[in-house]
Amino acid sequence: MLQDKDRIFTNLYGQDDWRLPAARKRGDWDNTAAIIAKGRDAVVAEMKASGLRGRGGAGFPTGLKWSFMPKKSDGRPHYLVINGDESEPGTCKDREVMRHEPHKLIESAMIASFAMGAHASYIYIRGEFCREAERLQAAIDEAYEAGLLGKNAAGSGWDFDFRIHRGAGAYICGEETALLESLEGKKGQPRMKPPFPAGAGLYGCPTTVNNVESIAVTSTIMRRGAAWFSGLGRPNNAGTKLMAISGHVNTPCVFEEELGVPLKEIIEKHGGGVRGGWDNLLAVIPGGCSVPVLPKSICETVLMDYDSLRAERSGLGTACMIVMDKSTDIIEAIARFSKFFKHESCGQCTPCREGTGWMMRMMNRMVQGKAEIEEIDLLEQVTKQVEGHTICALGDAAAWPIQGLIRHFRPEMEARIRQYKAAHGGTGLVQVP
Ligand code: NAD
Ligand code: SF4
Repeated sequence: MLQDKDRIFTNLYGQDDWRLPAARKRGDWDNTAAIIAKGRDAVVAEMKASGLRGRGGAGFPTGLKWSFMPKKSDGRPHYLVINGDESEPGTCKDREVMRHEPHKLIESAMIASFAMGAHASYIYIRGEFCREAERLQAAIDEAYEAGLLGKNAAGSGWDFDFRIHRGAGAYICGEETALLESLEGKKGQPRMKPPFPAGAGLYGCPTTVNNVESIAVTSTIMRRGAAWFSGLGRPNNAGTKLMAISGHVNTPCVFEEELGVPLKEIIEKHGGGVRGGWDNLLAVIPGGCSVPVLPKSICETVLMDYDSLRAERSGLGTACMIVMDKSTDIIEAIARFSKFFKHESCGQCTPCREGTGWMMRMMNRMVQGKAEIEEIDLLEQVTKQVEGHTICALGDAAAWPIQGLIRHFRPEMEARIRQYKAAHGGTGLVQVP
């Protein structure tokens, strides 16, 4: 469990002022020039050694991603683009950083940009985050006035500009290349990868796209050192992580915790326990809605980190867990996600455009039980046709929750179909000869 002395986000709840003087007292912007003076390679090496993995959901090693940026300029500008389009259902951790720790984010953006040779950074903020965008803009204005941004930012000798771009409420614009398209003023549709953004990103220039939290921890890692950060958590699952708990718990919240702590302990400590007690738990989706659901039996022992959850054929995702007690209709809950992914598919590639519609319609029938039992296998086959056959991860994200449902709750799905048949004397489906 995380001790107070190791907390990175010390103003997560807005218990203190977000403005520059208070942020400075908490340690932000403390001799930033000294970090810059270490040099670009040293910053990247420190971030690599820290073991930080991307906090947006995919868990790609952050320092490694930074090292893909060209070392020498070929005349094209370099960019850092921060992904603040936090749209994953159940996920609201980056929102708290923008609200209460804007200076930690801005200072870290400057350090990260320097490490990648970027003189400019954009943050793409989810359209619905109006107040957060206003707050961040006010903090940016403060930083410019104080000489922390702009020419010779923070007296470091590095020129650095930071700009906000507001999204317009499309989930797909959180996908990094759709985000870049949108930032360029085009329709937000994912690009084929490769090329990855480090080769050809914003306006065709070398770009790194990182999640808000991945960037915001940079200044603290650089001050406290890679060894401190990697000493927290577990091997290959280093550090602390912003997490959230929503759903059927007594105290839903956002909090910072060490990786590798048992999921059950986290729900008890931070979520105040499951509504009606632990025995009333049905299932947990550990991180957003793009990762498979886990039944109570696995939640008893699994650790909250990348590798432990992957071993259970789920994932850490955004680490923002959705807790469901026994009052939940789990088939309907997953069907709701299917509707979400169908709605948010950009329609660019056929398996996702058509497959999300098929999955949604089949899931709707499963909710009613108006299906044949063999159709559960057919539904699973459809998910396999979508998984891995699309341009971006939205197709996988639509397929995985259904696969998790079938893996862990197939008896419930079959029982629903039998119930319907018993009540209606058949499935009511028209048999095509
Ligand atoms: P991804 O695994 O394709 O990529 C992760 C990052 O690593 C990207 O920046 C990518 O460019 C980089 N990368 C991967 N392989 C690389 C390579 N060979 N060379 C260079 N760079 C490489 O995943 P993704 O599509 O970026 O993210 C999917 C995840 O996003 C899901 O797991 C989901 O949990 C999460 N997600 C989060 C939100 C949110 O609101 N935070 C919303 C939707 C999805
Ligand atoms: Fe668009 Fe879906 Fe294809 Fe992604 S997988 S590019 S969201 S159609």
